[in-house]
Formats: sequence, C-alpha cells, structure tokens
Amino acid sequence: MPTKTEKFPLSTKGFTDIHDITPQVLTALKKTGLQDGTVTVFVSGSTAGVTTIEYEPGLLKDLPAAFEKLAPMNIRYHHDDTWGDGNGYAHVRAALLGASLVVPFENGNLLLGTWQQIVLIDFDNRPRRREIVLQFMGE
Ligand code: ZN
Repeated sequence: MPTKTEKFPLSTKGFTDIHDITPQVLTALKKTGLQDGTVTVFVSGSTAGVTTIEYEPGLLKDLPAAFEKLAPMNIRYHHDDTWGDGNGYAHVRAALLGASLVVPFENGNLLLGTWQQIVLIDFDNRPRRREIVLQFMGE
C-alpha cells in the first residue's frame, strides 16, 4: 500500500498555544492524490501534542484551563531539577495528550466531523518552531 510522507513547519507562541492545522493536512492530502486511507499526524518534540477539538473561542480557553488543573505550571517538577528549563509542566501535558493522531480519509476528504478540527497544542514555555509530520497510507 503506497505511503507518502509530508512535513510542514509551524511557529508557535508556546504556553498551551492551540493551532488549527486542518487546512495544512487537507492541502497535503490533495497533493498526495490518495483517495482512501489514513493519515497519521505527528509532532516531533516532547512538549507539544496533537488532538481534535471544535476550534471556537470558548474551548480555546476551556482546554488550557483544564490542562492547568491537570498539570499546573506553578508546582514543582523533578524535570526542572534535572535541566533547569522550567518546562516540566509542558512535558507532562504533552505526554497526557499524545504526539500523534490518526485520521481516516475517503474519496480524497478527511472524515472529520463538521465541528471537529485537527489541532497542534504547544505547551512549551517559549516560542517554538515545530515540524509537523504527516504520513499517508492509502490508495
Ligand atoms: Zn524540558
């Protein structure tokens, strides 16, 4: 089964910065010419993650608030003792979220819900330039 890999860069602000990357994934899918299969969306790095959400202003506040409860920024992390980079919270959040997502496509279109967008969330404590990897398998 044919496999095609695409990559694109993304500049983020960090601090649980949420980006809708659905348009980039769809553009890459069209470029492959594949009709039916799956795409794995993966972020290289241990302080960011990928998921889906309804990309609207309320949830763009609710989701960071939920992560702040799960892994608060202002508590002690052993990771920060190790490296002193102050982003222990970001590693924990990224691990909870996961670095990849699989999305099926059919007839050349992503099988997302109407109110479901693919998002990259950057948790790090500084702006980052990320590389997003898309691996398509299909025919
Ligand atoms: Zn770190």
